[in-house]
Amino acid sequence: MFDKVLIANRGEIALRVLRACHEMGIKTVAIHSDVDRDQKHVRLADESVCIGPSSSVDSYLNIPAVISAAEVSDAVAIHPGYGFLSENADFAEHVAESGFVFIGPRAETIRLMGDKVSAIQSMQQAGVPCVPGSDGPLGDDDETNLRIARDIGYPIIIKAAGGGGGRGMRVVHGEATLLNAISLTRNEARTAFNNDTVYMEKFLDNPRHVEFQVLADQHGDAIHLGERDCSMQRRHQKVIEEAPAPGITEELRGEIGERCAQACREIGYLGAGTFEFLYQDGEFYFIEMNTRVQVEHPVTELITGVDIVKEQIGIAAGEPLSYRQEDIAWRGHAMECRINAEDPVNFMPSPGTVTAFHMPGGPGVRVDSHIYSGYQVPPYSDSMIAKLITHGETRDSAIARMRGALNELVIEGIKTNAPLHADLCRDSAFMAGGTNIHYLEKKLGL
Ligand code: ADP
Repeated sequence: MFDKVLIANRGEIALRVLRACHEMGIKTVAIHSDVDRDQKHVRLADESVCIGPSSSVDSYLNIPAVISAAEVSDAVAIHPGYGFLSENADFAEHVAESGFVFIGPRAETIRLMGDKVSAIQSMQQAGVPCVPGSDGPLGDDDETNLRIARDIGYPIIIKAAGGGGGRGMRVVHGEATLLNAISLTRNEARTAFNNDTVYMEKFLDNPRHVEFQVLADQHGDAIHLGERDCSMQRRHQKVIEEAPAPGITEELRGEIGERCAQACREIGYLGAGTFEFLYQDGEFYFIEMNTRVQVEHPVTELITGVDIVKEQIGIAAGEPLSYRQEDIAWRGHAMECRINAEDPVNFMPSPGTVTAFHMPGGPGVRVDSHIYSGYQVPPYSDSMIAKLITHGETRDSAIARMRGALNELVIEGIKTNAPLHADLCRDSAFMAGGTNIHYLEKKLGL
């Protein structure tokens, strides 16, 4: 096992990785920007290195600075967390070339999945169901593009191969606007992602977002940990996640999960990963793969008992998976509310000092958070300050525990979206389960 791991991140995920390392007897190195020296994981790490000023481009995204920190601290491996450099194939390559272990998939896998066109093509080959579409990049011939759209049937969506974060997409309702939409999306993609490759998909009007968690080791074994429903979204950002997804039968979970695990074996996937699908009328449609640990991984941990971060570290160290597929059993229901420092009504960021913080507790309640009384929520970082996660024998009991946890939670000094979560936990459609990806924005009148 590794002697020392460098955590190339901040916030709650840095703390989550630190906890896993310490439990495994691994020493930790925290890196931080100059304004982040009071981060909880920096205080708890065995060593820490300041790698630059507050702007993340100069610190958490600065590849040479991160690698130098690993060199000076004698770390053996680097855990990227999520966001920042976690899905940067060049970073994974630099880490390996500098003689460190990247805790994640190989650089070439990150590159393959980072381009949505090549990701979809490799998933089709592996038998994973995808959205009907252009099956490759769109060319410049107008007649061909019109015919592809006609064959798929309107509405369709034009997407940038290099897109991310909900950007680089355009819905087209009819032939009159197709060609213009293609060239607009192409131009935007060139500017935003430095890649003007675009493709076309059927636009699903009423889908849910359902994703499968997988783990794959260096010995050719891969398993799935079932699915999560992350349909409660605003601006393509997840707000509440839960596992299992309401209404998914054990049979369908087994079938789609096994296809994902098989795809991992075929592409030589390594570590933890997520297959994101749209789910509509009983069918799954692959949209993209995330090659890192996800914000919402705790809901899967609570219903399976698997520690996903410890598995990531073990896999990177060359250990076999701790579980076979038949060892995985799903128990009860789990739910996660992302607590953001923002106005619950108009969603404006709310940076500032947390003057008081009291965490909820009791049976089936987990809080993953890096904040404390006196913590400064910076204006330039991600606004998520805590994840409230509950587990119950049934979905209703997980929601009831969430209501209690939200009621116990005290965060003073800044605004948070906790009132929105409290409202959603009493919303009749959410309580019934299975709301689609448009539900929250419609409810908010957006
Ligand atoms: P990103 O990498 O930017 O998150 P995704 O491909 O994951 O892009 O798509 C983000 C979101 O856009 C989806 O969760 C869904 O809400 C919407 N979307 C993407 N493709 C389609 C589609 N074919 N039909 C309907 N909605 C879609």
